[in-house]
Amino acid sequence: MPFSHFNLSSSLQHKIKLKNFTKPSPIQEKVIPLVLERKDVMAKAQTGSGKSAAFILPIVNILANDEKEGKAKIRALILTPTRELTSQVAQDFEYFLPKRLKVVSVVGGEQLGAQMIAIQKGCDIVVATSGRLLEIIDKGQINLSRVEFFVLDEADKMLDLGFAQELSLLLKSMPLTRQNLMFSATYPPKVLNYTSSISSTALEVSIENEEATVGSIRQRVIKVNSDNRGPLLRYLIENEKYEQTLVFMGSKRAAHNIATKFRKYGFKAEAFHSDLDQEERNFTLNLFKDKKVKVLFATDIAARGLDIDNISCVINFDLPRSPNDYIHRIGRTGRAGAKGLAVSFIDHVSQEHFKLIEKRSGIKLEREEIEGFELTGDTPTKIKGPAPLKGKKKSKKDKLREEALKNKEK
Ligand code: AMP
Repeated sequence: MPFSHFNLSSSLQHKIKLKNFTKPSPIQEKVIPLVLERKDVMAKAQTGSGKSAAFILPIVNILANDEKEGKAKIRALILTPTRELTSQVAQDFEYFLPKRLKVVSVVGGEQLGAQMIAIQKGCDIVVATSGRLLEIIDKGQINLSRVEFFVLDEADKMLDLGFAQELSLLLKSMPLTRQNLMFSATYPPKVLNYTSSISSTALEVSIENEEATVGSIRQRVIKVNSDNRGPLLRYLIENEKYEQTLVFMGSKRAAHNIATKFRKYGFKAEAFHSDLDQEERNFTLNLFKDKKVKVLFATDIAARGLDIDNISCVINFDLPRSPNDYIHRIGRTGRAGAKGLAVSFIDHVSQEHFKLIEKRSGIKLEREEIEGFELTGDTPTKIKGPAPLKGKKKSKKDKLREEALKNKEK
């Protein structure tokens, strides 16, 4: 099906062509007509599936065809979990919007005053992270009473950010009749709890082949001793000629330290994590996008939403905590149908965790070893019996309670 099927304005069609989008992605094919019909939508979509354009294109079409007189009022509010995703979505809107319509992005880590001034000047679309938005709502500096479109992007991630508690406050600021569009890679019960409070009539959309994006990614698992992962990574980058490589680390410190080490070895390497201020984050990201940095050591803040073309390889130096995070991390490569490679390092300790990731994601991967970096040593034996209480000694009260319970059972 071509884009012309959707009856979008000729200006939008032209911009789509300039972007080299030849045909709608599967999620766009399903979501765009529903948004144009003014339906609420709850879509299951991975990053990389083209989900941003699935809501941006129809919203722009509707807003541009129905312009209001006078100072611009906020007609669309888009919430995303990260600053990077917010500015990416705002940039995409800016590209597709006619010049007369304005978009403002509202994120933490940048000057609050400038964002409030931009809002006060009048804008049609606000793309925001929830914390900063609530700060501005709290100051009474934003009027959301004319919102027609409420978009929740990466709804599952919002949960981790304590969004469920903030949601009711936000819903109170918007009109009851509005169009709600929700996107999430997964819909666990906790997410369904709050999506149902946003809309009870949302149509569920998922694409037949959910593996569509992940399917174009070659996944490898390499067994290696933990302290040999750095040398193995250097070997792989050089011998297998990885281009842009995104390496996921378990902590900010680890990301910082290994980037320093790699620079000493002559690699163009940088660290990317939340201790950097926004300016540093943007700067580093642009270096990586422009291929001036080849190896980016990142914590999970980089796993969501970042749309960087041409990441040829994602490395799980440290495994992600959850299967969801695994899918999100590897989704950074193989964007929009391009081929990608994802490599995970495992050792005796982490192999059990990786088995769990495989089981939950319905995949089974072969284990590899690279000559000269073979995994040595034995699997540590498990200690039988109950695990010790972590960080908590039983209090006097706990002991009394246990005693009372025992007596009751007798
Ligand atoms: P997203 O899932 O929204 O983060 O989009 C992933 C990438 O796919 C972005 O670089 C988009 O510019 C690109 N993209 C979105 N829709 C299409 C399309 N129909 N054809 C080709 N690329 C697309």
